[in-house]
Amino acid sequence: MSKVYIRKAEYDYTTLRPLVFELMDSIAGDLIKKGSRVLIKPNLLAAASPDRAVVTHPLIVKAAAEYVISKGVRPQISDSPAVGSFEKIIMVSGIKDALEGLDVEYKEFKKFVSVDVGKPFDKIEIAEDAVNADVIINLPKIKTHAQMMLTLGIKNLFGCIVGMKKPEWHLRAGEDREVFATLLVKIYQALKPAVNIYDGILAMEGQGPGKSGVPREVGVIVGSGNAMAADRVISEMLGVGPDMVLTNRTALEQGVETGEIRIDGDLPRVENFRFPEMAPMAFGPKIVHGFMRRHLVQRPECDNSECRLCGECWEYCPAKAITHDKKIHFNYDKCIRCYCCIEVCPHAALRAVETMTGKVARKVLKIK
Ligand code: SF4
Ligand code: SF4
Repeated sequence: MSKVYIRKAEYDYTTLRPLVFELMDSIAGDLIKKGSRVLIKPNLLAAASPDRAVVTHPLIVKAAAEYVISKGVRPQISDSPAVGSFEKIIMVSGIKDALEGLDVEYKEFKKFVSVDVGKPFDKIEIAEDAVNADVIINLPKIKTHAQMMLTLGIKNLFGCIVGMKKPEWHLRAGEDREVFATLLVKIYQALKPAVNIYDGILAMEGQGPGKSGVPREVGVIVGSGNAMAADRVISEMLGVGPDMVLTNRTALEQGVETGEIRIDGDLPRVENFRFPEMAPMAFGPKIVHGFMRRHLVQRPECDNSECRLCGECWEYCPAKAITHDKKIHFNYDKCIRCYCCIEVCPHAALRAVETMTGKVARKVLKIK
């Protein structure tokens, strides 16, 4: 049986702190002991202020850190951000300020170790500090994700893939979302965070998970010892069948157990939550997938009036499909439609746009 706790909450520390402590007590029990290595893993995707809903709110990170400290342990706060420096993100997000005076260690994931996760990947490299932690406290932000529909507890652990290993994995997974979802589930199984507390007070809808997404007040925090159970419950809360989210479905297929899911608290129904526009990445025989990707699947496009030529997208693009002179250009033959460029653009200049042939095919094939 997996318990999922839902609590109404707001970013008011006097009320938020006891809620987080209550969830930590219920989920972690006496797992956190003196001498244990406790890792706090927020979502630190990019340098953004809390009102953009891109990163886990600093007050949730603070409450989790204070809880660990109250158990006599100095927590480590880590991530491997997709964009920009770890130091800058903890400054701009307000985490450094919020946690001032607390005895915590900030440490960007840098070193990794090979972990045998079985087929089809065999060994994958995961942040050493995450693998060696006694207790992982996973602090996802509830957000949409243009590639995976939602980024929740399972997806948040992709931050434990270090630095430029991330785009390498995007390249290996290519346009096949199922392969990418399998990779995410394997990382989850390798790390098994003991505690998952989700920041859904100010969630993100639309073209998340970066700055192209739109903040949306949902007003909850969600907690569970089982991220898959919580991911399923949150999907339902947002109005999508849990199996519509690929990481949920893949986790089931990979044998991740939730048992019966018991909800503690009132599960709100979020009306008209806007999911990202997602095109099917691949359908039909494999032989035509390359053609379909080029001509039918949404492609990244740039709004040149917003682009500052900062270089984040072409640095990150795993397929090296972006070039630049006075503006940026996409090589759509090379582009694998991973949408990482949209995710990492700090100026919300990129979006996924449907091709004309894609629109026609969608109508003809009646694909929504
Ligand atoms: S599209 Fe975005 S990430 Fe790429 S260069 Fe322009 S502003 Fe930077
Ligand atoms: S151009 Fe964007 S969507 Fe295409 S491969 Fe590069 S990062 Fe991915």
